[in-house]
Amino acid sequence: MTDKDYMRLAIEMARQGDRASKCSPIGCVLVLDGAVIAQAHNEVEHRCDPTAHAEILAMRQAGAHLHRSRFPGAVLYSTLQPCGMCSMASIWAGISRIVYGAERHQVHQMYFEDRDLDTVDFLRDAYKDDVQIEAGLLGEECAALYYGPQDDPPADEQANL
Ligand SMILES: [Zn+2]
Repeated sequence: MTDKDYMRLAIEMARQGDRASKCSPIGCVLVLDGAVIAQAHNEVEHRCDPTAHAEILAMRQAGAHLHRSRFPGAVLYSTLQPCGMCSMASIWAGISRIVYGAERHQVHQMYFEDRDLDTVDFLRDAYKDDVQIEAGLLGEECAALYYGPQDDPPADEQANL
């Protein structure tokens, strides 16, 4: 399978999450040595847990599956640029590559906690020897899952959902 195939799986996870709950449709797949070791979608609202982002849930699944807390060599695919929390968790997990679809400029700012700093820039600088980051894979397809930069989402959806 290729990067695109894994991203399509992540998109499918995002769509499943969208149907199952009111959470923002974010999907994540974790791959190690060519095998999918975890796949998850955002469940913040469903679980009443602000940390239940797709990437965090995927890392928890991977830990339970592998019986360890670090996954060197793993690739994390996410439909949206990971937030600061998930980016740092990826560093703690020793994930080797982060591949994401929709980029920050393609979606509404409500999806990011940081208004004045792009955490992916921080990651690229601070952890350049630890993690490779690839942005924009199937970017338009992924961005179609979200409110666009000019959209006006309902106020009750503008949170960490
Ligand atoms: Zn996150």
